[in-house]
Amino acid sequence: MPNTLAHFGIQGIVSHVASPRLDPKLIFLGCLLPDLPWMIQRALQLFHWIDPYTLRLYCIAQASLAVTLCLCAALASLSTQPKTVFMVLGTNVLLHLLLDALQIKWANGVHLLAPLSWELWNAGIFWPESLPTYALTVLGLSYALWHWRAAITLPVPGPTRSRKRLITACGWLMLYVMLPVWWLSGPAETNSHFVRTLRAPKALRVGQYVEFDRNRYRKHQPQDILRTFAGEDIHVDNTILDHSAIISAQAHFVGPDTVHILAFHEHTAFRDLASYTGIALLASMWGIAWWRTKKPRINSSARNHASNEEAGHETQSGVSPIGGARQGSNSDLYG
Ligand SMILES: [Zn+2]
Repeated sequence: MPNTLAHFGIQGIVSHVASPRLDPKLIFLGCLLPDLPWMIQRALQLFHWIDPYTLRLYCIAQASLAVTLCLCAALASLSTQPKTVFMVLGTNVLLHLLLDALQIKWANGVHLLAPLSWELWNAGIFWPESLPTYALTVLGLSYALWHWRAAITLPVPGPTRSRKRLITACGWLMLYVMLPVWWLSGPAETNSHFVRTLRAPKALRVGQYVEFDRNRYRKHQPQDILRTFAGEDIHVDNTILDHSAIISAQAHFVGPDTVHILAFHEHTAFRDLASYTGIALLASMWGIAWWRTKKPRINSSARNHASNEEAGHETQSGVSPIGGARQGSNSDLYG
């Protein structure tokens, strides 16, 4: 799927054409949300206490449009402008998935209609290492830097004080976490990411077609090895490269743990590098904006405290609820 930076540019332009006053950091946050399950999966895989196949099915379900919209609703519920925030995040989640579907991803794709249909959708037009992706990445980096000042200037709102809003947000968050558990069987039945094929008893694999998405290919004697997402080492009966690499592959099982590779694509570190850059930019935007929002509050709190001591009573600080605007300013939107 396109790297994070690639999403920033094209989705930023579409969002700002639709509404020029939108806060860029909110748009960029929407660009990131569908990839959250895959980031969490990477972290959880380090601990080895969750069955990797179940974890993969959970992430597939959680990355679907319907479930990611629950996360958008949770975040929007914390805002004083829930409809606008939901529209910005939701639209960018949809755009993200549509853009993802344009890229070639063997054993992968997006679920736009789940839970009605768990068939993966993938138009598969270009690879992550190709001119369209490079162009989108340069556009994204330029766009994020161009809007950097606006992103760090617009304030980050404080937490809502409405108990009803908090309860609603918790409800949506629960759905974001629990729906994938209830829907595990959906992607399993359609053999998304070839989980069913790889999870089957080894003897049943022989003769089955399988695809691998960005897996480590290692030189080894007597046969090279391909490591699956579940950490299983599968032998390769035909030598396809004279060096180790990250590859996507189409293959079929010729033995219980041996595949014959029919086609492959070698990946570079470009996608990860561009994604880490995009995530770092987004985190910095929110971090700096939060710090700048906080600073006047501390100053005004100190001033309030001093004047309260004089007046002998307490005053409210001027900080707005989360997602909401201060009086006379607008946290989610320009203006
Ligand atoms: Zn994605």
